[in-house]
Amino acid sequence: THATTVNRDCSSITPPYVQLIEKLGRAQELLNNRPLTLAEKILYSHLTDPEKSLANGGKIRGEVYLQLSLERVAMQDASAQMALLQFMSAGLSRTAVPSSIHCDHLIQASVGADADLQRSIESNKEVFDFLESAARKYGIEFWKPGSGIIHQIVLENYAAPGMLMLGTDSHTPNAGGLGMLAIGVGGADAVDAMTGTPWELKAPQIVGVHLTGKLNGWATPKDLILHLAGKLTVRGGTGRILEYFGPGVFSQSCTGLATVANMGAEVGATTSTFPYTPNMRAYLNATGRAPVAQAADEAAAKGFLSADEGAEYDEVIEVNLSDLEPTINGPFTPDLATPLSKFGAFVQEQGWKDEVSAALIGSCTNSSYEDMTRVAELAKQAKAAGLTTKVPFLCTPGSEQIRATMERDDVTASLEGVGAVVLANACGPCIGQWKRADKKGEENAILTSFNRNFKSRNDGNQLTMNFLASPTIVTAMAFSGKLSFDPTTDSLTTPSGESFKFSPPTGQDLPATGFTPGNIDLYPAYTPEPQPDTEVVISKDSQRLELLEPFTSPFEEGSNNPRALELPTMKVLMKVRGKCTTDHISAAGPWLKYKGHLTNISENLLITAVNDENGDINVAFDHEHDASQSTSDTIPAVAKRFKSRGQPWALVVDDNYGEGSAREHAALQPRFYGCAMILARSFARIHETNLKKQGILPLWFVDKADYARIGSGDALETTGLADLINGNQSATVALKVTKRSGEIFEIPTRHTMSSDQVKWLRAGSALNHIRSQMMS
Ligand code: SF4
Repeated sequence: THATTVNRDCSSITPPYVQLIEKLGRAQELLNNRPLTLAEKILYSHLTDPEKSLANGGKIRGEVYLQLSLERVAMQDASAQMALLQFMSAGLSRTAVPSSIHCDHLIQASVGADADLQRSIESNKEVFDFLESAARKYGIEFWKPGSGIIHQIVLENYAAPGMLMLGTDSHTPNAGGLGMLAIGVGGADAVDAMTGTPWELKAPQIVGVHLTGKLNGWATPKDLILHLAGKLTVRGGTGRILEYFGPGVFSQSCTGLATVANMGAEVGATTSTFPYTPNMRAYLNATGRAPVAQAADEAAAKGFLSADEGAEYDEVIEVNLSDLEPTINGPFTPDLATPLSKFGAFVQEQGWKDEVSAALIGSCTNSSYEDMTRVAELAKQAKAAGLTTKVPFLCTPGSEQIRATMERDDVTASLEGVGAVVLANACGPCIGQWKRADKKGEENAILTSFNRNFKSRNDGNQLTMNFLASPTIVTAMAFSGKLSFDPTTDSLTTPSGESFKFSPPTGQDLPATGFTPGNIDLYPAYTPEPQPDTEVVISKDSQRLELLEPFTSPFEEGSNNPRALELPTMKVLMKVRGKCTTDHISAAGPWLKYKGHLTNISENLLITAVNDENGDINVAFDHEHDASQSTSDTIPAVAKRFKSRGQPWALVVDDNYGEGSAREHAALQPRFYGCAMILARSFARIHETNLKKQGILPLWFVDKADYARIGSGDALETTGLADLINGNQSATVALKVTKRSGEIFEIPTRHTMSSDQVKWLRAGSALNHIRSQMMS
């Protein structure tokens, strides 16, 4: 049986430290034994071929593409569908590295845990059946609906110091709380790892975050990352790893560090990590992994799990934890940070109603035992004063283990005693899976302990302002019902008319009597063997799952046409203005049910993106429409028209296009409709790679002002691409623009394509390339 508090066989989850340290030694020699950061040590010890990647010994970070091998892949139920559909088409009998599937995103919150879980299992049956059958066939660990949120389960079961893993979800870096590198990717990258293809990453820059002092009062690890998000902005971490160091790391719990690592995704960081600490050891021991802790102790003694003395960072940020106060971020962007002491004035300045309409705690960011016991302490204080919450107060435990332990230790009873509704151990409202009964179409403000707050993300209502805060601040606000309430200074009035002020809550980082696993039927067997005879279940007329047809290469192979290795002439479908996240490109919420059906989900392409030509949402222009059609239509409708005419097309987009998540559908969908190129002022890293995987060429404006010179219906032709495809890595690609007015000009662009990525483009997709490699 599975019992996480009992030490289990850890052989499959202990990183191979001896080999990693040996490989690191080779890398260090190639780098003339210069001092290394922790992130570099983890990356370089996972190089498939250190001699190849580090050959010139010079500047690596920000310059060199690293070919890496990984220890593990984790997938959530929404992104796993497409990853598995792609993996299946590669024709292997098992995954090359241990992999797991977690059923969490598809569970919709409505009335409470049991009923919601039952309803969601029924409504998603065909998807869960597909995932379970594919897991069985290929030997993947399958965590059933109700077992918990992917990142919480990874932290509790698989994460280990010094390890390198990929997850098909942007908050995969959560596992960095255990001193490892966990990177969020699209399903196509996961397919690389699962097929044993080296995974490629441009060596990130390393930002050192030097922590001194100690959090006190109401300040929590969440406030550290909310504060940093304000400093760094949603772009500040792009192409960079955040590596924390200094005494302030050691005063925080392992799960607290995971919260900080989790929200590194909000600043666009590749991932975040911390040196190995005694609190990590305690967490490994408490979660049944003493052998991993012991192996990590030995690796740490050899200097593997922390930065070398004198290691250089690309930038160092200083934070004195003693100075931090609670912080509230939002609305609509996670980097709009306001210290709690100024938040009331901020709300007043903006003219917002001083009302909280709902308070939500939990999610993968903040559902640790420590978070929940802190919150329960507040609930007990309030209850003793006769108070109950004034607004709906929803709690999503991160895992079955957390739920069961909360229940055993009366944490749940304390929360329910003041009016909390405990939801299923799943993502729920964090990803729009919230059947909210009120506030439809109304402006309102919610407070959450989640990590992300783009418009419409939680309840589908564009007018819901989502403010991010620590679970304790969210809980205190639930009792006041007012945005301007500051629990560190303000009092509430009890039913008997007395004044009540909360004391700062403390909480316990680990349960005194250990964790209890709860319902072990929801857990997988630890080392599943593939069962090749299993039939993978996809019904022919399914509206939710569809086998993938490979994309075709845009190039005329074998042709003598000198333009055969240039992209065919493209028409600009639309110029997107401003922020365009992966939520804008491929909305979640009700669309999540089509994750495994490319034709159906593509109906949501860019439906919340702003057209720069008229400022409208979900409008595109078709300048070559026939008499039966109108010039303007929805974006998916115009994309479909282009596809049916066989017209390749391009998008022109603004800065940081594709920020937010690893959602590969945001790349698959435009490709499905015939998009060949996206021209951006800048790209978010994960999304740019996803575009390359699906065979879309991402190009950057050299001069951002050129964005203004191109509009819908203009024709674009590449020049110089053939040179790049023929192996000239330094080839520059320019674009010839033919305006609808007939004006012609050329603009320079730049690209970030590596020599391998060029092969994907040529083959039509990375998967086409992998398949052809396997056959050759
Ligand atoms: Fe789930 Fe939200 Fe965490 Fe994503 S951020 S894994 S949706 S809980």
